[in-house]
Amino acid sequence: MARAPCLCKGSDERASEGGMTSIAHDASRGLDRLHVAGVTLTGVTRGGVETCLMAKEFGVMFDIGMCPPGAQRYSTALISHAHADHLGGVAYLASLRSMLGQPPLTLHVPAETVEPLERLFDVWAELEGYRARVELFGHAPGDTVSIRRDVQATCLRTTHRVPSLAWVIERVSRRLKPEYQGLEGAAIKALRQRGEEVTEEHRAPELCVTGDTQIEFLLSDESALARQARVLVHEVTSWDVGDAQAKARTRKWGHTHIDELVAAAERFEGEALVLVHRSMRHSRQEAEAVVARMPPALRERVHLLGG
Ligand SMILES: [Zn+2]
Repeated sequence: MARAPCLCKGSDERASEGGMTSIAHDASRGLDRLHVAGVTLTGVTRGGVETCLMAKEFGVMFDIGMCPPGAQRYSTALISHAHADHLGGVAYLASLRSMLGQPPLTLHVPAETVEPLERLFDVWAELEGYRARVELFGHAPGDTVSIRRDVQATCLRTTHRVPSLAWVIERVSRRLKPEYQGLEGAAIKALRQRGEEVTEEHRAPELCVTGDTQIEFLLSDESALARQARVLVHEVTSWDVGDAQAKARTRKWGHTHIDELVAAAERFEGEALVLVHRSMRHSRQEAEAVVARMPPALRERVHLLGG
């Protein structure tokens, strides 16, 4: 039986250029898109329904709730946790990439989920009559993964109902050591010829995607790297402002309530705070109205992703 693959030949990255923020929603393809602080995020993020975000500048995607158009072009996925709305599309995507003859899907997941996922892929291999090629890597908090020569990802423990990780993307470069800055080129060349190491590694946290978490993640000592990221994508599932019962329910399910996010936001040191994973109970217009009432210093840094 033919299946409906998530193939799309067209470009799905049409965000504006430069440092401007752009928001777009392509209803025909179900993708949301946000370009902010030099980072383009494309995908879908709906609380309890589906989360998959692609970051083209870094060549990685975050979570595979389903398989949105364009996802098959990404070979590396950084997985926050194994709830179905964040990982339910993984067998489909692995199978699709294998069918297309693409390199194996590389999955970086919480260490606790490796063995169950291996069993899941065994079952799918039995059902499909062939084995999709997947490279599966389990990680403990603090692990670092090399994505490209100039990009690496570090995972941090988040606070959710199952083992879960946030992923921080860092840009890696080499810079002149402080003691050599200001020297003429010829002097630096001479140092190099003497065998001196004149540069050192420099890392800049560019993007953090939290996955599902309670607000405790953003406040913890261990998440300093996330707070320093230029763009922080944080979940806010509940937008019931001032509703203590809603906040308690949200916490019970391991998520963040908007009042908690606002109270903690001053700890964020970066440029853009992108709020995602809004429950289907709340419309985008409702969330926009809440953002409009935020203090100006916070409002200027807050962006919404998700139609
Ligand atoms: Zn979850």
